[in-house]
Amino acid sequence: MFIGHFAVGFGAKKYAPQVSLGILLLASQLADLIWPNLVLLGIERVEVEPGITAMVPLNLSYYPYSHSLLALALWAAIFAGIYSLLRRVNMKAVITIALVVLSHWVLDVMTHRADMPLTVTDPAVFGLGLWNYPAIAIPLELALFAWGIWSYTHYTRALNLKGSIGFWSLVAFLLTAYAFNLLGPTPPSSTAVAWSAQSLWLIVLWGFWVDRHRISKKR
Ligand SMILES: [Zn+2]
Repeated sequence: MFIGHFAVGFGAKKYAPQVSLGILLLASQLADLIWPNLVLLGIERVEVEPGITAMVPLNLSYYPYSHSLLALALWAAIFAGIYSLLRRVNMKAVITIALVVLSHWVLDVMTHRADMPLTVTDPAVFGLGLWNYPAIAIPLELALFAWGIWSYTHYTRALNLKGSIGFWSLVAFLLTAYAFNLLGPTPPSSTAVAWSAQSLWLIVLWGFWVDRHRISKKR
């Protein structure tokens, strides 16, 4: 899943109004932000294999430290814990951040083929494989994205033009990146896949910037 993860970040703003959208987007994609670094370090593995699923030509052969349920539970606790030490927020916000990190596993299980581990060592893997059913996967992800956008715009409002144009250009950028992922050329190598995944950081920074120019309607 790609923009569906960001949708959860957008939607979570309702439950954690004092937390920046940047933190929520970071939480939703924490797994995919850790993953390329572990691939580049040779700790996790991905192979480019056209046809392995109808939509995504990646064999995600080994990624328990970034994508197992257990690892994500630990990452969720670490990330939400550090945030709660740095910022004075209520418990609801901290739990929201942790659940957003964990939501990555649930959404990836829906789209990935059976390659999502439960723990670092357990060989059992899960995945409903919706990447083989674009007629289901694409509308589902777009609907989730639409919900996230609706929720974020419903519970926040722009303070100025940066808050509105900045936000809607982020939405347009995400949709364009999603279309490119679906229709663009097959990546030449796993290293290229990992480096291009680092561009997710740009979206996180964009989220921080947008959030500074919007205000929560709920107090
Ligand atoms: Zn992922």
